[in-house]
Amino acid sequence: MAALGCRIAERLLWEYIAALGESENAHKAFVESVRTGPPAAILVMEKRLKAGAAALEEARQAFQEHSRDHGCCPEQPIVPLPSPPSSPAGPKRRKRPRR
Ligand SMILES: [Zn+2]
Repeated sequence: MAALGCRIAERLLWEYIAALGESENAHKAFVESVRTGPPAAILVMEKRLKAGAAALEEARQAFQEHSRDHGCCPEQPIVPLPSPPSSPAGPKRRKRPRR
């Protein structure tokens, strides 16, 4: 059963969900380490948290790229569009010089 109508998109989405769970666990562990210490554990947990966030971002991008290329998930269930190509009322962020 492919809820998204595309097996690849679904697999990528599951990978994203797994990464989401991991980063959530890492976040909890991090908060716990901040609460209970020791300081060394905080550093370790922070690294884990960052790794989890990076994995999450990677999974999200993989899904987005597939969705964009394949056109199988126009609604992009996991993220609000990060940067619409033309939106005059958008947030003032110009980190991508076009050239
Ligand atoms: Zn697809």
